[in-house]
Amino acid sequence: MADPTVAIGPHAPRREQLVTTLAAAEERVRAACSAAARARTEVTVVAVTKTYPVSDVHLLSLLGVRDVGESRDQEARVKSEAYAAIAETVPLRWHFVGQLQRNKVRSVARYAWMVHTVDRADVVDLLARHGGPPGGVLLQVSLELDGSPGAPGRGGAPPAAVPVLADRAATSGLRLAGVMGVAPRTTEPRRAFEVLARVSDELRRDHPQATVVSAGMSGDLEAAVSCGATHLRLGSSILGPRPQLR
Ligand SMILES: *Cc1c(COP(=O)(O)O)cnc(C)c1O
Repeated sequence: MADPTVAIGPHAPRREQLVTTLAAAEERVRAACSAAARARTEVTVVAVTKTYPVSDVHLLSLLGVRDVGESRDQEARVKSEAYAAIAETVPLRWHFVGQLQRNKVRSVARYAWMVHTVDRADVVDLLARHGGPPGGVLLQVSLELDGSPGAPGRGGAPPAAVPVLADRAATSGLRLAGVMGVAPRTTEPRRAFEVLARVSDELRRDHPQATVVSAGMSGDLEAAVSCGATHLRLGSSILGPRPQLR
């Protein structure tokens, strides 16, 4: 008799891959929390599904994933609509983690549960006009530290600009949920995440509900967890390597 764990439906081989990579990612997150003396429940994993098909999103949902991330509006829109059209799926929280241009705000506002990449006043105002994502917005902070060439095109407001942007978001009626950062490739990730942690501490003095710290990707999740990340954006470690795209 065939091994029932090997052939389960048309996606069986991919399903088995995702079972394995999800378990490995979970083990890394669990170990990182343990090393940082933090509870595993303090950290949410967002599976970044960019470049991967909606069939993967569906499989992940069947394996218990509830938070997925996308970085390109057009891809995210098509994929979230395709997912919604699949019968008997569980609702997912779609996180928009890509650079947000003015002309994309309206579209992103339709499917995004949380937007991680708000870094400009005009985007704050536009998002507010479209009702704002129900899970809230994160202010993306540039973590390009002194002398570092940084990560060009990654976006993010300088730390000094965060208080004004935060007040604008809060008064515009958006739910200000916290901060987000991407560690530049050229910097020790811990140094970058410490800066983000400090920005978060200062933000919470005026906006105590803004507790989310979205930091850490597949390559640096341990450093992020040790610096207080509440959300990890994991792409390649769960889905596999991507063809060149950010
Ligand atoms: C693609 C992407 C990720 C996931 O990166 P991995 O290294 O594959 O885990 C996380 N955050 C942002 C903003 C991304 O664009």
